[in-house]
Amino acid sequence: MLATLTVQDNAYEVALENFDLAANALDLDDSVRAMIKYPERVLEVSVPVRMDTGKIVRYQGYRVQHSTKRGPAKGGIRFHPNVTVDEVKALATWMTWKCAVVNIPFGGGKGGITCSPKEMSLGELERMTRRYTSAILPLIGPQQDIPAPDVYTTPQIMAWIMDTYSMTKGYPISGVVTGKPICLGGSLGRNEATGRGVYYTIVSSCEKLGISLKGSRAVVQGFGNAGSVAAHLLDSNQAYVVGASDSRGCVYNKLGLDIPKLMMFKEQTGTVVGFPGAEAISPAELLALDCEILVPAALENTITAENAHRVRAKIIAEAANGPVTPAADRVLNERGVFLIPDILCNAGGVTVSYFEWVQDEQHLFWDAQDVYSRLERVMKTAFEEVYNIRQEHKVDMRLAANMLGVGRVADATRLRGLYP
Ligand code: NAD
Repeated sequence: MLATLTVQDNAYEVALENFDLAANALDLDDSVRAMIKYPERVLEVSVPVRMDTGKIVRYQGYRVQHSTKRGPAKGGIRFHPNVTVDEVKALATWMTWKCAVVNIPFGGGKGGITCSPKEMSLGELERMTRRYTSAILPLIGPQQDIPAPDVYTTPQIMAWIMDTYSMTKGYPISGVVTGKPICLGGSLGRNEATGRGVYYTIVSSCEKLGISLKGSRAVVQGFGNAGSVAAHLLDSNQAYVVGASDSRGCVYNKLGLDIPKLMMFKEQTGTVVGFPGAEAISPAELLALDCEILVPAALENTITAENAHRVRAKIIAEAANGPVTPAADRVLNERGVFLIPDILCNAGGVTVSYFEWVQDEQHLFWDAQDVYSRLERVMKTAFEEVYNIRQEHKVDMRLAANMLGVGRVADATRLRGLYP
């Protein structure tokens, strides 16, 4: 447990360090820094759950609102054994800058429960989700704070959150949460939004770097929601996805994995391990594969000072939040690797969450093509804005993205002023 806490503590340290770098580059004054750097609210909740055996187990839950300067707090809920308050604070902080980078009218929030969802029955998960929702209920709402899915949380879990909130208020309120099933006010395209956004930023990067996507090789670490969709789009657009992994292991085929079949295999067996026609390799070997594009799409701190020098990719697309540590950033920068930072790369998810919330509020729903074309426009605009800051200020892409996000939040904060 202690070892886990140390790793998670680092994620928040990383978030603060990245903020300081951006604030320094923007020459932000101390008053504005003081108002935007730290979370506005941190809520810790006890979540007692009656297990199928009849025993009651207590889980620890959190909801953090880092910022509501530009709009309601927005951010996912994670069910994972390593969830800590510092991890949630880090993720909430990144959400603030991310929403500002893609210029949607939201602040940043995040939630989580320290639990092992894979070891729980559906009934236990439902009871835990509903109890957690009632515990954070005073903080959430369509105009206050809007949760969404994250690691190991699903549209079904979002439906339970929506139902619990609505039953408490006495009428259906679909805008309280995004990532819902379509029949409950979910948006077409939300499920694949993050991976699709990752793909758009890879396309933009290839254009800037003069790399042909067609025929290039990609590796995806973390073949879940974000990773598998990005892999599928790369594969459909004539790139070869030569390596993929999940928490149980890694698979490799130098001629390219059959991604639609791998997606089916993962759905049927729960893992990529044992996929026919692929070779098993270690996680260290996966990161060191010869390829043009590496997509870390699992968890934080997977590319570190210890393994960064072994990365051979030309482009790293951070589908996950915080997969590259600051020390690894320095190594990769020195080696000329082009990094698409998380707060830009994976912002497609929150962008379509925003579209979902807009549709819920208007009770008017868009077709999938409309969602995709709006998403492409938002992602490509944000990419250009970040890339222009990189060129103008001669900084790396991460600092450029943080400068854009932090700068927009700082502007809003100055205009609103300090209450009272
Ligand atoms: P997911 O649960 O669908 O997938 C995560 C995948 O990572 C799973 O296949 C899991 O087995 C794998 N994994 C876990 N530990 C691993 C390890 N050590 N090595 C290799 N694989 C490992 O989750 P997701 O929604 O795809 O989220 C993945 C990342 O993307 C997270 O960092 C999340 O915060 C980020 N993200 C997701 C969204 C979204 O809309 N889903 C949006 C923005 C960012």
